[in-house]
Amino acid sequence: MRQIQALIRAVPDFPQPGIVFRDITPLLADAGSFARCVDALAEPWQGSEVQAVCGIESRGFIFGAALAQKLHAGFVPLRKPDKLPPPVVAVDYQLEYGVDRLEARNDALRPGERTLIVDDVLATGGTMAAARALVEKLGGALVGASVVIELAALQGRARWQGDTPLEALLRY
Ligand code: AMP
Repeated sequence: MRQIQALIRAVPDFPQPGIVFRDITPLLADAGSFARCVDALAEPWQGSEVQAVCGIESRGFIFGAALAQKLHAGFVPLRKPDKLPPPVVAVDYQLEYGVDRLEARNDALRPGERTLIVDDVLATGGTMAAARALVEKLGGALVGASVVIELAALQGRARWQGDTPLEALLRY
């Protein structure tokens, strides 16, 4: 895990002053560490009979697609607005300034399909909460969520209600 951590670059004041951006591209470029990262993401869900992995655009696609393969599950992209052709199901959510939206195809999940959500970073938790609301709107049965990095000081976990597990590989 320490090697994975060493391959995540902290970039101060990007994309805005005061934000420490966690750049995962050096990790992706290292074949062994990327593979170990996907193995570690999969580990808590072995035996959970996950049928669909929902990855959040865009870095959640990278980890989510690899994890779906590992868990023998399908992959569903949760997309930013206006990327998918209609009909779509959408959830709006609050950003620090303004709103954003996640969308999926209206038939992206089968009723009761056992679903895992994946993203790279949990920060304030707004994106993950919206992804969860979208999975529920689509009729999926949420098994849990995984992120590579949890920025604990931002308390995003507090917005993840109930007993459904939220797993993080690394915490800062
Ligand atoms: P939030 O909704 O605040 O939890 O933000 C999570 C989303 O924003 C994830 O999709 C991340 O990719 C991205 N994000 C937020 N903060 C950072 C950060 N410090 N470094 C990299 N990505 C971030």
